[in-house]
Amino acid sequence: MSSYLITGSSRGLGLQIVTELLKTPSSKVIATARNTKKSAGLQDLAAQYPTDRLVLVDLDVTSETSIAAAVEAVSKILPGGLDHLISNAGVNDLALIPFEEVDLTLFKEEIDFSLISTILLLRGFLPLVKKSSTKKIIQISSVLGSVELAGYMPGLTPTYSVGKAALNMLIRKWGASLKNEGVTTLLAHPGWVKATDIGGAIAEWMEKYAPETKSVTPEEAAAGVVKVLNEKTFEDSGSFFNYDGTKLPW
Ligand code: NDP
Repeated sequence: MSSYLITGSSRGLGLQIVTELLKTPSSKVIATARNTKKSAGLQDLAAQYPTDRLVLVDLDVTSETSIAAAVEAVSKILPGGLDHLISNAGVNDLALIPFEEVDLTLFKEEIDFSLISTILLLRGFLPLVKKSSTKKIIQISSVLGSVELAGYMPGLTPTYSVGKAALNMLIRKWGASLKNEGVTTLLAHPGWVKATDIGGAIAEWMEKYAPETKSVTPEEAAAGVVKVLNEKTFEDSGSFFNYDGTKLPW
């Protein structure tokens, strides 16, 4: 059995990644969300799969207490360690608001979510990841965090882009140290996933200003992310991948 834990799997891309992972009979999936009981999608899956394939665990990535409780629960479920950590939870509440007008308190909350929550999540689960034989972490990021491509989409999601760029550096920098301990860290852009809450705001902008950009279904995005996670190797550690497996510029 190969184990996977995913954050933010109540809906959107996260829920679809859980569905995709469960297609492989040798996978054991820990699907986490702020409130797993309130997610109709997770409850549907839990009714279909036995607990040796799928376990639901409550996990709010902004709460140290919640992270600690989840780590404790998962340590009991996976005494041999966690093979794959998928850090997926995200927010994009400020969408298209320009820097001139953005509410700085909300911006601070968004940066906290992107950076501080991710640090807490990784600190919490790293011992379990290091204990496993696979030792893989994938951070779901966005091409909007690419510094090189920022000029191509000037008005799109200013604060979200800054948060994702900082997140990319956090994972690349930390990942460089973790590589010395045998841990593989990857970053992935899932594509423009139209049907999710975050993707909806972006897709609206894309249709107006960049109609040449192809969007993907949640199914295509999830299949791509899972393929990147499973097929990229330790040698690829520290790279930023598109959902189709090609490398993205920083
Ligand atoms: P959605 O808005 O559909 O889903 C966001 C998920 O994050 C929900 O499950 C939500 O849970 C969860 N979440 C929010 N806050 C917390 C929290 N404090 N603790 C735990 N979970 C939380 O977004 P997507 O599925 O589209 O996005 C998933 C990831 O993909 C994000 O990191 C996003 O930035 C990234 N991405 C998405 C793109 C797209 O086109 N959709 C493009 C590029 C990147 P809840 O139901 O409890 O609110």
